[in-house]
This record gives sequence, structure tokens and C-alpha cells, in this order.
Amino acid sequence: MQKAKFPWFWIGFLILILVFIDYKKMQAVKPQDLNINQLYKDINGGLVEKINIDPESGNIVGKFKDGKKFKSRVIDTGDLQSVAMERGVEVDVLEPAFPWVYLFAPTILFMVLLIGFWVWMLRKGGGGNILKFPAKFQGTGLEKAAANPTRFKDVAGCDEAIEEAKEFMKFFLYPDIFNRFGINLPRGLLLIGPPGTGKTLLAKAIAGEAKMNFIPLSGSDFIEMFVGVGAQRVRGLFATARKNAPCIIFIDEIDSVAQRRGNYKGFGGHEEREQTLNALLAEMDGFDENTGILIVAATNRPDVLDPALRRPGRFDRELFLSLPDVVGREAILKAHIKSRVLDQGISLRNIAKMTTGFSGADLANLINEAAIFASRRLLEEEKVTKMKLNAVITSKDFNDAFDKILLGPEKKSRVVSEKDKMTTAYHEAGHVIAARHCLNADPLRKVTIIPRGRMGGATHYLPNEDRQYYSESYLLDHLVSMMGGRVAEVLKFNEKTSGAGHDLAQASKIARAMVCEFGMSEAVGKVIYSRHESFLGNEEFLDCSPETKAIIDQEIKRFLEEAYKRAEEILRQHNDQLEKVAQALLEKETLDAEEIDTLLIEVVD
Ligand code: ADP
Ligand code: MG
Ligand code: ZN
Repeated sequence: MQKAKFPWFWIGFLILILVFIDYKKMQAVKPQDLNINQLYKDINGGLVEKINIDPESGNIVGKFKDGKKFKSRVIDTGDLQSVAMERGVEVDVLEPAFPWVYLFAPTILFMVLLIGFWVWMLRKGGGGNILKFPAKFQGTGLEKAAANPTRFKDVAGCDEAIEEAKEFMKFFLYPDIFNRFGINLPRGLLLIGPPGTGKTLLAKAIAGEAKMNFIPLSGSDFIEMFVGVGAQRVRGLFATARKNAPCIIFIDEIDSVAQRRGNYKGFGGHEEREQTLNALLAEMDGFDENTGILIVAATNRPDVLDPALRRPGRFDRELFLSLPDVVGREAILKAHIKSRVLDQGISLRNIAKMTTGFSGADLANLINEAAIFASRRLLEEEKVTKMKLNAVITSKDFNDAFDKILLGPEKKSRVVSEKDKMTTAYHEAGHVIAARHCLNADPLRKVTIIPRGRMGGATHYLPNEDRQYYSESYLLDHLVSMMGGRVAEVLKFNEKTSGAGHDLAQASKIARAMVCEFGMSEAVGKVIYSRHESFLGNEEFLDCSPETKAIIDQEIKRFLEEAYKRAEEILRQHNDQLEKVAQALLEKETLDAEEIDTLLIEVVD
């Protein structure tokens, strides 16, 4: 029989052509590469004549006044656009025109691959049926327990999460005790947290502590081009796991397989994921065969997960990892510095203070970069091959590393400047103090100046009870506490920032509801004015006259102004408390209710 050959030659040929086209195109343009800071500088300096912005990708191409071309890339194209327009630069927001080959090349390539694969399978396997694809597990591989040195002590600065992990492991290590009481044992653990906060590390530490084998794989490992294979892989995976029990299956980025079913855009992908997810759930349900197997999954997008995944008997325990606060960061720095030698003058506490918003991975990276700067410096200084014995990382190395990381375009947005930190601290302290002096407001749970998503900081309240209804006094006090942030900024810095925008929007919503839906305004009376959105997205009142609408607006404004005034009175009167909390926040970054109580009791005494 003729030996089957995969059409490598033709595919190679096609790729060569694509590369050649690409190369030609690059040669034709050859613009200078500008980093984003330089771009802003040049725009402000009036050097730039014209830019084209692609809002999808953030790619920028443009022309200097001297005729030279450049290209760059920004994250916030809207901002660039407004800055450029202010400076009189000609701005084009474009749909980049692709040559047609770019449009069709992936499709053609895909089809060639597909046909090639079919032909290859048919020739090779006789009755080659793709569904009989070997159900062999081909993840990243099995890591034997004996070879895993990771322990809980390597995961620094998240003691709470470790405590919870230990609790969880008790179910697993002593199932008999729990079975005796008829407790349903949890089956899966879901680690939730932003990137780089140590989810993978913690999973490995759990395996290390419990002396279990570890099978790591990423959600996207499952996703394969051909229907059926993803689900097969899941079965293969569990078979491997059973053979190697006790064992942890760690699924990183589980959101890529386990998004809400029917939530996928685009062609083809979703049936495959659905089958994979169903296979995963089916395997998890087959618990009797799976004794000795623990499934740990990680995600930074819990909001998109299929709810079926979080039902009892599946990933029914969740563990949150958050960005470390200043104490946590110091601990992480310590854990990573271990064998490396530090100059005596360096205070890790100070480095921790400078790095608000850094994740554990960012910190590890910082240390690594600093160590690289140190070694380079030594090589230059010494001009000898023998390393000096007193080689150390100095604070200059740290500063260099810090600058390098800050100037990197992606990380730039993460870092919190001292000034922003100050503003956020007073803003959040304003919420805290305002809420404290409103008897009906929700009590405070936690306040932090560590950035969350797009917001500078956050103050979390603990709702008193599950409310069935809201009283007027509660809503009014809530408005006051929401205004506290802006008031504090104005009192302290005599300046308004955009940071309070979210609060104000929230407060306006509440005030509007009080006036229009809850009948809490005397002037408007006890009429409910329902709103609806017109098809253009404008809010319209269906059932009220323009006069009434004017009164409604006036009343909403009055509620907000009064809340603002009350907040202002409170913060003026308790300015010492505001200062105390703000300073404590600058120091510690996160405060819980107890810490604030102790802080403020001292003031009263
Ligand atoms: P995630 O899985 O949450 O994205 P990782 O566990 O992959 O984060 O973290 C990447 C690296 O960052 C780790 O290997 C470790 O070096 C460092 N790191 C992250 N968090 C911590 C931590 N809490 N303590 C010590 N090192 C950490
Ligand atoms: Mg990870
Ligand atoms: Zn606020």
C-alpha cells in the first residue's frame, strides 16, 4: 500500500507566498516605530501633521510635518484622538483597507488544511473515522507529586485564601469523617482572581501539600478544531487521572471552555465547547469512580462562567485571590528575594509602597528585572569574568527595573501614581466618614485604595439585612454616603475629579427612583411616573407634562444637593477623622470595619 503523505509541500508553498506578500508590504511602508509616550510628546510639540487611528486594534499610522512616516499603538484611542485634534493634527479614524488576500488567505489555508487532513486520515486509517480519534490525553503532562516542591509557604501574602484551601483539603483528606455525618463532599474548587495573583501557584501548592499528582492543562487545550475531540480529551483526561490518583486536575482559564452555553459569537466554535463542557460535567458527576481525583479550576472571569458549572456537586467551593495590599506585597517580595542578595540600604517595605496595583507576578517580574540590571552593572563595572562575591542588587537597580516596567506600554495603565493614591484615599475616606455619621446607612465592611478594574478604589458596605424594601431615611443616608467621596476631594484638594463620576451616576439613579417611583417627593406627590426608553435611547416620560418633568428634575437635583450639603457638614465637622482614615489608607491601603473602629475610637478619646 502506498504510504500516506500529509501534503506538507503544498501547505509550505502557500505559507511561503503569504510570508512573501507580508514582506513586500512591510518593505513598501517602512515607517518609524514610535512608543506611545513619544507619540504624545511629538503631538504636543507640534511635530505631527496627520494620524490615522484604527480604533479596533489601537494601531496608529501617521506623518510628521517633515514628511517622515511613523506607526504606533495606543490603548485609549479616544484620548489620543481628542489630544491630537486639540493640537490641530489632522485625524482620520479609519477602517483599514485590507488587501483581498488577507481576507481570503486564512480561509483558503484552513480549507487546504482540512482537506489535507481528511485525505491523510482516510488513507492512513482504512475506515478512518475522526470520531475514533485516539482518546489519549495529551495535556501538558503529568507532574508527579514527588517532583513538586511547591508548598503553601511559597504562596505569600494571601493567608486567608490559604486557610480556606486548608479547610477545603480536609474534606478531601478525611472523607470518611465527613461521610459519616452524611455531608455532601465538595468536588471541585474554583480559584477566582485577577491575572498573576497566584492561582496556578496555589493549585500547585495544594497538590504539593497533599502529596497528590498534578495534571495541569489550560481550558484552551480542550478546544480543538474537530468536533468530538474536545469531549474525547476530557474522557481521556479523567482516565489518566484515575490511573494516577490521588491526583489534582488543574484547569486554567476554565472560562474558555465553560462560558455560559449559547454565549459564543462566531462560527463553529460553540458546539465544540458545549460538548466539551457537557463531557466535563458528566465526568464530574461520575463521582464514585473518581475518588482520589480533585478538580481545581482557575478563572479571572467568573461572570461569564456557565452557571451549571457552579452547581452543588461540581465547582461548589470558591476561593478568591485579590491583588495584594502593601503588607501582602512585602511578603511576596520577601518570598521571591530569598536567595538573591539585597543591598543593605533597600527596604522591601518601601518597594511594596511604591507598587500599588502590582500583582504577585508583576512583583516577581520586578525582582527579576532588578536582578538583571544588577548583573549587567556588575559585568560592566568589573570587566572581569569572575563575579565579585559581594554582588548585590542596589536601589538603583530597582529604580531602573521599576522605570522599565512602568514605561512598558501595557503595564502603564496599572500603576497608581502617588497623587492618584492621595486623591483616592481621601475620596474613599470621605465615603467612610459620611456613612459613619448617618445612622441609617449600611455599615461598612471594607475600604481599599487598590484599584479594581477601572475604578480607583472601593468602599464596600454590608447591607444590614436582605432588604425587602428601602425606607426613605435609608435612601437619604445612602445618598449622603455616596456624596462623601466627592465632598472629601473638594474639601482636601479643592478640586473635582472624574473619580466621583460613578458615585454621582449611582446617586442620581437613586434620587430619580425616589422621586418618580417611590413617591418620596412632596412637590411631585404620590404619582408614579414610569419611564421608558425611546428607540433612540433617550429617556422619555410617557405620562407627564413638560411642567411636571421640570418639577421632577428640580426635585432630583434638590435631593442630591441636600445630600451633598449634609455630607459636607459631616466631613467639615469630623475633618480629623477624615484625615486619620485617609492617612491610614495611604499607609495600609485596605482597612476593614474593625480597623476603622479602633482608629476612630482613639480620636474620640
Ligand atoms: P495566576 O495563575 O493567578 O495568573 P500565577 O500563579 O501563574 O498567577 O503567578 C505567576 C507567578 O507570579 C508565580 O509563579 C509566582 O512567581 C508569582 N506570584 C504570584 N502570586 C504570588 C504570591 N501570592 N506569592 C508568591 N509569588 C507569587
Ligand atoms: Mg495562571
Ligand atoms: Zn466613590
